[in-house]
Amino acid sequence: MPKFVGKPGYLDTLRIQSLEAAQKGNIARALDLAKRYHARRPDDVRVLNHLAHMHQKLGDWAGVIKYGRRSYDLEPVGKHLGILLDAYARLGRFEPLAEFCKVELKRRTWMDALREPGVQLRLVATQIRARLSVRAQHRREQRLRKQEERRQLVERARRAEAARRAAIEAEPTGSGSIPEAARRVEAADKAHAQLEPPSWPVLTLPALRLDVLADVSDLAADLKGMDRKALSDRVPCVELADIYVKHEGLEDLFQRQFHALNVRVEFKGAREGTAEYLGVGLYYEAKTEDRPDGVLEVWINTDTGAALAWPAHLTSGAAHCSPEGAAAFKPLTPGDVMALAERATRKSREAAAEQLRPHLRSLQEALEREFTVLQDQRRAEWDAAVAAMAKPDASRLAAPQGDLAERTDRFLREVDDLVARRTVQASVHPMDLRRLRLPVMLCSVLITRRESSRAVLVAYNPLTRHFEPLPCHHCDRDSYGLGATDTGELRCARCVKH
Ligand SMILES: [Zn+2]
Repeated sequence: MPKFVGKPGYLDTLRIQSLEAAQKGNIARALDLAKRYHARRPDDVRVLNHLAHMHQKLGDWAGVIKYGRRSYDLEPVGKHLGILLDAYARLGRFEPLAEFCKVELKRRTWMDALREPGVQLRLVATQIRARLSVRAQHRREQRLRKQEERRQLVERARRAEAARRAAIEAEPTGSGSIPEAARRVEAADKAHAQLEPPSWPVLTLPALRLDVLADVSDLAADLKGMDRKALSDRVPCVELADIYVKHEGLEDLFQRQFHALNVRVEFKGAREGTAEYLGVGLYYEAKTEDRPDGVLEVWINTDTGAALAWPAHLTSGAAHCSPEGAAAFKPLTPGDVMALAERATRKSREAAAEQLRPHLRSLQEALEREFTVLQDQRRAEWDAAVAAMAKPDASRLAAPQGDLAERTDRFLREVDDLVARRTVQASVHPMDLRRLRLPVMLCSVLITRRESSRAVLVAYNPLTRHFEPLPCHHCDRDSYGLGATDTGELRCARCVKH
């Protein structure tokens, strides 16, 4: 853990306030503060344990596992084990619990066992109990499966018997010559060959959807009606120690980064300047059983609106500005902050979706298996129904087809349900906000399209060591493609094409 010297920084304040809120029993606020801290330092064991304990207070055992497990993986200490084992058992997740105990017992040396005999005993006892529970669970499932199989067998036999009776009743009674009977059988066989009942069609599974929602409601409620003092606490101004800003070779870099689309571009020169940014720390979580989550950070240039992402370590050491330093920032209203934070949240959805991609793939595979089992079962049921059908003739031709259509419809509805149940919903919401001022190089560029010219300023950012993109005036996408309409409005590559 880094040592903090002097007055507590922004992050320490969050952590301390969260502990105080928890002590006062205000768990919702304590959770909010701790999650904001966690967003910045996801591997801080103290706060992970704090989060696990608060989820325990709420009876949210999945939350306990989520944070407690991360903490224990980072720092396997006996005293943090109990809460985790308890959470697994309460959720009835005995198989992972037994596995966890097994791995833990293997990992611990005899020295650990001597030092913490209580922990050793607890692991052994929990493992035994979990295994017994797993076996009981399996037996229960097996019993249910057998019952279901028997039920299906009885049902099939009953239907076959009913079909046989129907066939006998339909058979004309009375005598007939043997050639007559033979002819009838032959005709029936022929009809049967022509009227082969339709077989189960090949149906494929649609892909799982991932919906990432931008949820800014908490922040909006938070910022609503905030006065200037409260706003400057919620959105502190921070600064970085001396930053080197490159002055040379900017035109070359500009030519390499930007592409002229349907315009002529002239680089007119560069001057020193400052740019202001709103940093938005975002937290996303998918609403599935193991709730994969993560954090993102987006910085919005408050003048141009460009959204930037740079490695967190570049600004994690930023310190709070002095009151004089903070006074140099342009005034922002809660409404301005909200609009910028909303923009950052919207722009972060794609990155969150990208990070959830591997999780989505494993869900799709699980769904694929579920789908195959269900389809095999429905196909077998159809085949059994076909086998039990009375000899079909022309008058009964429509019946099997209608029956199959109804069955496949029902099956497709079942599949829709499966997919809907597995649709991954994730939400990303802004948590902590910071304002930053940077010395930048502002380069003036003249863009000419037919008769009209337009001067734009592009910023060279010393943190990313790149020029910042410009948002398209039409679709709002940040772009390094420079295009324009005949009246001189900026357009990105995609909008120029259309
Ligand atoms: Zn565009």
